[in-house]
Amino acid sequence: MNIGEIKKDRKFWQRMLREAGFYDGAIDGIRGPKQRTAETKWEAACLGLAQLHGTFDQRSEENILTLLPNAQKVARQWLAAARKMAAGMGVQVKIICGTRSYAEQDRLYAKRPRVTNARGGQSWHNFGLAFDFGVFSADGKEYYDEHKCYKIFGQKAAEIEGAEWGGAWKSFKDEPHVQMRRFSSIKEARAEFERS
Ligand SMILES: [Zn+2]
Repeated sequence: MNIGEIKKDRKFWQRMLREAGFYDGAIDGIRGPKQRTAETKWEAACLGLAQLHGTFDQRSEENILTLLPNAQKVARQWLAAARKMAAGMGVQVKIICGTRSYAEQDRLYAKRPRVTNARGGQSWHNFGLAFDFGVFSADGKEYYDEHKCYKIFGQKAAEIEGAEWGGAWKSFKDEPHVQMRRFSSIKEARAEFERS
């Protein structure tokens, strides 16, 4: 999803603004003055991070901009480092997935053949905290769903303050996945995100 699509899901977008610390109004889907102020703060935060940490390819940018500002910071710091490593290894690295609204997650859940076991509110990607990266050929045309670079780039993510790499998880290893270290479980993240 891109940020424009996320904003169309009005309540979801209000929850994102609240998680970013910019909005303390009602989660009612009505765009009032508090929300407009929050959106101005959001835009300024995104712009500041892009100026400080740099911008990347279009696909990565689209996905980064769906993340909470704290997660955008991690994503930009990590991608800058990973791209330097990738250049020396003859591959490209991009952020291929960011935030999905609950509605989008439900739409994916309904797909056959099955692409996810998570419904809206059951994925780390539903709270603005998580992104997935992809490894591609040097010309960017071929996507590798398995490659030794997942581990190498993922370990780099684990070095960034406040970040957690899915490849380090004990039960289910998710090598393309990086997220903010903020909640100990999806259940906990969901309770925070959905509070009224
Ligand atoms: Zn993921």
